[in-house]
Amino acid sequence: MSYAIPAPDLPTLSIAGSDDLFPVHRIYCVGRNYAAHAREMGHDPDREEPFFFQKNPDTIVANGGEFPFPDRSENVHFEMELVVALKLGGKDVAVEKALDLVYGYAVGLDMTRRDLQGEAKKAGRPWEVGKAFDYAAPCSQVVSAVEIGHPDKGRIWLEVNGEVRQDGNLNQLIWSVPEIISCLSGLFTIAAGDLIYTGTPAGVGPVRRGDVLQGGVDGVGKIGITVV
Ligand code: MN
Repeated sequence: MSYAIPAPDLPTLSIAGSDDLFPVHRIYCVGRNYAAHAREMGHDPDREEPFFFQKNPDTIVANGGEFPFPDRSENVHFEMELVVALKLGGKDVAVEKALDLVYGYAVGLDMTRRDLQGEAKKAGRPWEVGKAFDYAAPCSQVVSAVEIGHPDKGRIWLEVNGEVRQDGNLNQLIWSVPEIISCLSGLFTIAAGDLIYTGTPAGVGPVRRGDVLQGGVDGVGKIGITVV
């Protein structure tokens, strides 16, 4: 069997302490999963059902590095997030079984063309132009849950040019990782290789060319990007 055109490369992430790579299947993201961020975006964090959107897998910027400021936007925001990496899939996974599907964790930036997302929201249109553009998903290496367990607390933070801009804690997640996996698996058949960006704490803001972003989740990892 051969392909009629060159087959696309599989996006991958490196794995801490291993020469193996983590193959990326889909990228799901949770919206408004920290109360203070929901409020700063003008919403009432009333534990409405979690909602999801997707980024294209090839928007991964593995291990951070350079983030090219995207076209068609004057207002590009950072959102620092804990990322869940799945080793198994399923449908309608029970909350109690959900962590069995987790390979490990990473930290990522849900980069957002906020102006285009805002226009889409206003017009009742999909969010892809705001969320799924090229280079929209910088992500760190993956750390196995065998090494770090399943973190449900720990500081999540982001600095821009050395100044702290986001400073939250995983214990502020409205929907926990097992709840997110369970809910997501009711809407989609989730699979090995899926990444889930779990939402961002308060303090999101715009980036400019030349900005250096450093962020992380204590106990999981760090990521750095430079906006070019
Ligand atoms: Mn986000």
